[in-house]
Amino acid sequence: MAATRFRPYGTVRQLATTDPRDMAAASKGMFGWNADQRFSRLRTAVAKATRERFSPGRERMRALVVSPSGRLSWRQVPAPPPPGPLGATVHPIAMATCDLDRPLVLGRTPFPRPLQLGHECVAEVVAVGSQVQTVQVGDRVVVPFEISCGKCSACQAGLTGSCRAVPPVSMYGFGLIGGHWGGTYADLVGVPYADAMLVPLPDGVDPAAVASLADTVCDGFRHVAPHLPRLLERDPGTEVLIIGSLASRYPFSVSTALYAALTAQALGARRITFCEARSQVREEAAGLGLETITPSELRRHPLTPLVVDISGSPRGVRTALTKTAPDGVCSSVGTLSHAARIPASLLFVRNVTVHIGRAHTRTLIPQVLELVTATTLHPEAVTTRLADLDDAPKVLADHMTSDTTKTILTTD
Ligand SMILES: [Zn+2]
Ligand SMILES: [Zn+2]
Repeated sequence: MAATRFRPYGTVRQLATTDPRDMAAASKGMFGWNADQRFSRLRTAVAKATRERFSPGRERMRALVVSPSGRLSWRQVPAPPPPGPLGATVHPIAMATCDLDRPLVLGRTPFPRPLQLGHECVAEVVAVGSQVQTVQVGDRVVVPFEISCGKCSACQAGLTGSCRAVPPVSMYGFGLIGGHWGGTYADLVGVPYADAMLVPLPDGVDPAAVASLADTVCDGFRHVAPHLPRLLERDPGTEVLIIGSLASRYPFSVSTALYAALTAQALGARRITFCEARSQVREEAAGLGLETITPSELRRHPLTPLVVDISGSPRGVRTALTKTAPDGVCSSVGTLSHAARIPASLLFVRNVTVHIGRAHTRTLIPQVLELVTATTLHPEAVTTRLADLDDAPKVLADHMTSDTTKTILTTD
């Protein structure tokens, strides 16, 4: 049983504990391009919600909604409209929690609630538009959490997380921040660009095992796979240091960090050190064959050629940069805080390559599926709980208020 219990914050406490500069930074990122489209999606969502309230005869479906006080419940919401020529409608069959879901639900992020939750799923296609060619009704597909068109300059370059056809950070399961695309804990999900987004699931792959390929598995993979082979060529003994949480009471779960470690194992790293403050997470990591250390032990730990920071905290970013060896790579998920102090002159002297940011998930899914089908990567090793979707409100409330790592719900 997990030791930590969290309580959700209501809107007032959420606002009182949020740094307005974090909110300002988030808003600035949201309106980087297609600001008109973002406003019009918001207007449409509000109008639709108002209309639906007074015309209950329209087609509706079940979706899991987070209330402004952090309560999870099934609600009847408008079903996605029939797909356009390029779109599809899918029915999620395996859905996973993301590491960001807990802070989101608890009100520990600047992101406003209520919202329809969930952005990681494997689904079955139930309808396709007239021009869709690569998927058909009945196919099982991985649904990337980011919306991407496949045609714009960014998508063509594989930078699908920065698709120019939709506003920045357009994604499922984040309500207002993501642009009102709905959530994946629902009977149906609308996919605007089916050929571009959906990745068919190879035969024999268990949907529950790969539900997190929609986000967190790919997120762990991209911190390691682009850098490790080159570093191993330079030195076959290259160590990988992965930083989870530096604080013992911390709402972010740790699956991305564990998936990064599994990727490093799959790609041949002999030495992987996992730094984490929470003892039960260290136990989980040790169970996967990782060497574990506490944040205080990290101070004496030698500099490391590949440092991966999944802490999501300014302190984690700074610590990771400080622990990167000369000519090494530091890959960090960054932080929702508007700023973090970085050791700039140290990075200059050590010639460190730094990457901070999001993953281009759609591009990564086929690469990760290759490791899964070759049985060198086993995402299911990170799953802590499997349950039935019908029990979602209770099972996910347990997940959000405890310290567990990965809950996966299925429709079976
Ligand atoms: Zn996520
Ligand atoms: Zn695009």
